[in-house]
Amino acid sequence: MTSDITSPLVQKPIKMVSPCSELLVISDQPDCTQALRDIFKQDHAISAVSSGDQAFQTCRNRLPDLILLDIVMPNMEGLEICRRLKDDPDTTEIPVIFLMAPDHPEAETSAIEAGAADIITQPIHPAVARSRVKTHLTLKTQSRLLESLAFIDGLTGIANRHRFDEGLEAEWRRCRRLITPLAILMIDIDHFKIFNEVYGHLTGDRCLKEVAAILKGQIGRSHDILARYSGEVFACLLPDIYFDGAMQKAEAMVRAVHDREMPHRDSKTAPVVTISIGVIVTIPGPDRQPGEVISQVKMQLSEAKQHGRNRVCGRELPGYFANAL
Ligand code: GH3
Ligand code: MG
Repeated sequence: MTSDITSPLVQKPIKMVSPCSELLVISDQPDCTQALRDIFKQDHAISAVSSGDQAFQTCRNRLPDLILLDIVMPNMEGLEICRRLKDDPDTTEIPVIFLMAPDHPEAETSAIEAGAADIITQPIHPAVARSRVKTHLTLKTQSRLLESLAFIDGLTGIANRHRFDEGLEAEWRRCRRLITPLAILMIDIDHFKIFNEVYGHLTGDRCLKEVAAILKGQIGRSHDILARYSGEVFACLLPDIYFDGAMQKAEAMVRAVHDREMPHRDSKTAPVVTISIGVIVTIPGPDRQPGEVISQVKMQLSEAKQHGRNRVCGRELPGYFANAL
């Protein structure tokens, strides 16, 4: 079995390989399939198919964690099945272990070149098979975690600036294609320099973590991204939302941080920690670049600061299609 967790950085589920994973056997040899069932049935969910077409169908329906592939198959060679699995972005990350006769160095080389993670020779030795499968399931989990850590802000556990920049490019393209609005929020803690001076840097760090958690609690759709943009500045991407909805979301964030009542004795705005937010909503078009919109949202944040902090200032930029009318 597998369990899903939500990565704080990508804010979408990552499939974690738990001790009980899903294995797919591709072999037209009933003896081979049965031997593998006997070896793995205690520890893993195991399914089997006897052709390449069935394998692709199964992978489309439910991605297995690892594939055990017989190199000798009718119609489509095992090598060709492996190549096609590796060519498909949806299945390329599934480790494929080939099952083959021993002492065939050329076949082993071809298997590795086709993208195999490893080889188990027949007749299958249960301890060897278990150990190889365990190794590759572990490697897969670790590489997923590493990949996800590269996008995480170490202090707050939310997405980092790198992830935000990538997300902005991707959502910009997606919203442009679908002609749907994209909201960008820039969120800054008010008088945070004074907070650090009064309570110390460590308490400042705890405050940053708390604010990140409160903000994260306010977003929830699968394409939404909350990131630590820099220092005490957060940024949020909310696709498929119109101006009024984005402003309401930002107002709710401001309220939620204020209502948490974290003391900020010397703040000139309120006796508690508060935030200010700049908002820009636009339908991306070819006449504008994401970088320009970031400048605009910073201007809105600056307006919110100038108008007394603990508030939201926002603007809707006319979309490309509105310009064209
Ligand atoms: P404003 O209301 O105008 O935003 O005022 P401010 O004091 O929040 O803004 P300013 O840019 O003057 O100061 C930001 C402060 O944020 C200074 C810096 O020490 C603090 N800061 C930035 N990153 C961190 C961090 O990782 N941890 C802590 N504790 N403080 C940080
Ligand atoms: Mg600040």
